[in-house]
Amino acid sequence: MTATIIDGAAIAAGIREALARQVEEMIVGGLLPHLAVILVGDNPASASYVRAKQRAGQETGIKVVIHRIEAEFDPRQTERRIRDRIDLLNADPDVHGLILQLPLPEGVDSDLLIDRIDPLKDVDGLHPVNQGRILLGRERFLPATPHGVQQLLVRSGADPGRKHVVIVGRSRLVGMPLAAMLAQKRHGANATVTVCHTNTADLASITREADILVAATGRPNTITAGMVHSGAMVVDVGVNRVDDATRKRGYRLVGDVDFAGVREVASAITPVPGGVGPMTVVMLLNNVTRAARLSTQR
Ligand code: NAP
Repeated sequence: MTATIIDGAAIAAGIREALARQVEEMIVGGLLPHLAVILVGDNPASASYVRAKQRAGQETGIKVVIHRIEAEFDPRQTERRIRDRIDLLNADPDVHGLILQLPLPEGVDSDLLIDRIDPLKDVDGLHPVNQGRILLGRERFLPATPHGVQQLLVRSGADPGRKHVVIVGRSRLVGMPLAAMLAQKRHGANATVTVCHTNTADLASITREADILVAATGRPNTITAGMVHSGAMVVDVGVNRVDDATRKRGYRLVGDVDFAGVREVASAITPVPGGVGPMTVVMLLNNVTRAARLSTQR
């Protein structure tokens, strides 16, 4: 079997077009959705993710403003500057969504800073209030990557209902919220979910049980062909840089799945790049429009 490749970029483009139409209507009605992104230090991967968000914002009509903060020698000083900026943006009624691009420089307490973001502007869905709401099935902002994964499943005809979904990775950003979302009793979810991590005994015996296998580990080749049941669907969330002297930039991006091997056993697979990544950006923008609407109800 050779897997169908799920074109996340095409699915994301369709959602982005629909979103652009909604934004146009909002603007006509006098509401310009506005996302503020705090970018700290000079991490090149973070800078490139932020550029992608800004580009997608432009294509959708959403205002995206980047607030750059230099990393100081003393992390407490950096933390103070970020805190002050968060307070300013929380108080600005023109700003609807506020995100702190992670990771932050060594020594800066990201939990403390995320807790400070107004939950009604927390479009990354990382504030404890918003994470808790997901567990309760009363979500306000779904974190963009797990929401993108769910939308990829539904829109590619792989409804998670009745399926066994195995998620490898339990981060707050991806694995945990995705598990909470897919276990809800509702359309587009209603799955039986297993969450695996580095302390899982005999990982392969569990991944082989998956109808839908999601890899979100940040380690290339965590999932190989022998770990996948024939005909399973595989969603690769990972984005990893591996050295590649044949590329001008000296590296290439790979996921957490051995794509070449696994595509021979799976029924469908998401590529890296071009799978989950484009979905993440568009689901973030979707949250910004939601935040803008919520701001009118305050
Ligand atoms: P993370 O916070 O580092 O979490 C990784 C998780 O994977 C942890 O729970 C870890 O287990 C588990 N893990 C690592 N190696 C494993 C192994 N060999 N076997 C089983 N479990 C293993 O990472 P993250 O933020 O969730 O991101 C995961 C990946 O997705 C990264 O490559 C990241 O770049 C990518 N990502 C992509 C997008 C996108 O838009 N495409 C968005 C966000 C993240 P422990 O808890 O036991 O340590």
